[in-house]
Amino acid sequence: PQAIDSGVVTRVLDEVYTLCRTEIGGAPADYIPELAAVEPDSFGLCLATADGRVYSVGDTDIPFTIQSISKPFTYALALADRGVDAVGQRIDVEPSGDAFNEISLDPVTERPRNPMINAGAITATSLITGRDAAEKTERIVRCYSRFAGRDLSMNESVYTSEARTGFRNRAIGYMLRSFGIIDSDPDEAVDRYFRQCSLEVTCGDLAIMAATLANNGVNPRTRERALSAALTERVLSVMTTCGMYNAAGDWVTTVGLPAKSGVGGGILAVLPGQIGISVFSPRLDEHGNSVRGVAACRELSQRLELHFLHVT
Ligand code: GLN
Repeated sequence: PQAIDSGVVTRVLDEVYTLCRTEIGGAPADYIPELAAVEPDSFGLCLATADGRVYSVGDTDIPFTIQSISKPFTYALALADRGVDAVGQRIDVEPSGDAFNEISLDPVTERPRNPMINAGAITATSLITGRDAAEKTERIVRCYSRFAGRDLSMNESVYTSEARTGFRNRAIGYMLRSFGIIDSDPDEAVDRYFRQCSLEVTCGDLAIMAATLANNGVNPRTRERALSAALTERVLSVMTTCGMYNAAGDWVTTVGLPAKSGVGGGILAVLPGQIGISVFSPRLDEHGNSVRGVAACRELSQRLELHFLHVT
């Protein structure tokens, strides 16, 4: 990438923001009723360097629910809690080409194909250690908070809304239990998954979480280690192949950064060793990825030469 010149970054962020703001395609998620309550035209964009400088434009302080951007972080915690091998026996690392909420296991391995689709994510959530359900949830919240560098909290109405309507995720939980992938209470795992998805972040928080991944697992602001370097590499690998669901191939081709999206409208992307990017805009495309978020990441990647295979 180009050397990180603060003048260039500020100018490019402004240009990309102005350009992508005109994009009004897509619609906020409404299958979780409470998610439809957002301001659909909110738009925030941040870039944080691996040494902790943050550049922001637009609505970067509006809280929204993290949703599936939680998945890499809970996967990270499961790896730290149980080890790579034990987690690998239950969750594969193969891109699925399926939608995020596909009710499926790999027919040969009988495991969820990866931790970024719901089946793999609910399994990862079931593997978090703790004395009881409350402590397991608390450990998840603390883990994300270390990445963000501040104490995150839950949006209770989004949680209640998903808990009331999340039958498909319950079906996935029961399927996992019947195949022995989850060997604890599936309702408890799914409930914890709903809670982790309901944690509120701002675009600014996501930028620091991304910068922490870019900085090998150390939060550049608080200097606290959130994840080991080896596990950071593994999490970023899975984000590269699976983070954008069935749009992952297109994403790697046109943006070229490990990333994760959520149906709350957030996207987080990472250039290892260098940069974290975050976007918030609630209108989604057919894959459940933020329309402006995808457009903005494409533009930023091109203009700042961030594609991880780019050779100067
Ligand atoms: N909580 C949401 C669900 O499981 C998260 C989905 C997403 O962000 N893609 O349906």
